[in-house]
Amino acid sequence: MRYISTRGEAPELSFGEAALSGLARDGGLYVPTSWPKLDAADLARFEGLSYVDLACAVLQPFMAGSVSDSELHDFAAQAYATFSTPDVAPLVQIGDNDWLMELFHGPTLAFKDVAMQFLSHLIDHLLTRRGGRITIIGATSGDTGAAAVQAFSGRDTAEIFMLHPNGRVSPVQRRQMTTVLENNVHNIAIEGTFDDCQGIVKALFQDLKFRDELALSGVNSINWARVVVQSVYYFKAAAALRNQDRKIAFSVPTGNFGDIYAGYIASRLGLDIERLLIATNVNDILVRTLETGCYELHDVVATHSPSMDIQIASNFERLLFDIFNRDPARIRGIMESLSNDRNFSLDNASLEKIRARFSGFRSSEAETIAMIQSLHGRNNYLADPHTAVGLVAAEKARASGVIDEDTAIVTLATAHPAKFPDAMIAAIGIKPELPDHMQDIYEREERYTVLPNDAAAVAQFIRERAAILGKGASV
Ligand SMILES: *Cc1c(COP(=O)(O)O)cnc(C)c1O
Repeated sequence: MRYISTRGEAPELSFGEAALSGLARDGGLYVPTSWPKLDAADLARFEGLSYVDLACAVLQPFMAGSVSDSELHDFAAQAYATFSTPDVAPLVQIGDNDWLMELFHGPTLAFKDVAMQFLSHLIDHLLTRRGGRITIIGATSGDTGAAAVQAFSGRDTAEIFMLHPNGRVSPVQRRQMTTVLENNVHNIAIEGTFDDCQGIVKALFQDLKFRDELALSGVNSINWARVVVQSVYYFKAAAALRNQDRKIAFSVPTGNFGDIYAGYIASRLGLDIERLLIATNVNDILVRTLETGCYELHDVVATHSPSMDIQIASNFERLLFDIFNRDPARIRGIMESLSNDRNFSLDNASLEKIRARFSGFRSSEAETIAMIQSLHGRNNYLADPHTAVGLVAAEKARASGVIDEDTAIVTLATAHPAKFPDAMIAAIGIKPELPDHMQDIYEREERYTVLPNDAAAVAQFIRERAAILGKGASV
């Protein structure tokens, strides 16, 4: 399988090269040249597979040419051995036809581990094979950074610089990054929002000289390997629930449109998904876009679900590429409008194509808290605030008739409630227990550097710190 940029002005790459580069050189995102298709027999076969074998079956066509079947199996087996359950994504029934899929049983307690654990084995393998070394630069609203730092710490093949918005991630999220003291890990707190962090990372990638000098690589969900690896659990849920021809919809707490785009990948591969529900908090750019056809940046508001306090939903570009019949000139046009005017408009035909698969619902802070309370009261279940946003969307979709009673709704439970103790205490007065391996997180030594919201200052810091410089960066 080969990969092309949504903006049409970057070289075509193999899977391995796309995984190592992250963002395309023209600022676009990599997508496969065509969608592989699974048939009914493939899907039926998935029902008996372990998570590792399912991952191999789903991912094989995307990685062909870069990764052998046995390597793929090794990466998946090593990645998911770090999870506290071999099931990786257990389903919990919470209503007649309502389910949660728990994606937080990895080492940093959010769904980001599912892809990041895999990616670190993949990248380490590719670089060991060719004898290269990379500098990973990422922006995080909390969970990506924790997952990436955990997955890449101590690796000889990568140096990692992770930017988080200072004071805007939960203390548990911050400490999961800043208490990792390995020499190849550098945490940077930016005086700004997540979008500011993401903007700096994009600017550094667009400085091609800097990019080449440091062999930059990105592990945000702009990295194709991340989103495709996440598509596996949609198949898992469907395989588990598909008895009696039950129809399935997914409600997905959304920020950067990565996790829900993974659901779209699954549907393009042939998985029958009734509808994908875009669940946002009050940072609702995607919900507004579905309502009005105008994608318009507002200022970011801090909420109880900080990992979704995002305005620029980067992966939406990947969906639009397909919606625009894969015309990169149209993507370049809207992205120019976005950077000049902070908005772009979709024509009606495009909007209707999006609405045919997706619906969007926002949750206010009060609705999120009320959902945590009611699920605790009803099912004695502790849902973290991001998961609660997904549950609010599921409830609204049912109430408005967007999803009928016969269709199962699987809401993705994206984080463990113990990552967000303040919101849980505010909602139900309970501080959820951290798992054993994190009990001492508040006592561990922290290390991070605060920098202004300025790409040049960050570039300077990276140049000074990157041990890679003396060692000859190359990929
Ligand atoms: C990252 C994250 C999200 C949003 O996922 P996207 O892929 O950015 O849409 C939702 N919930 C949690 C807990 C997250 O960490």
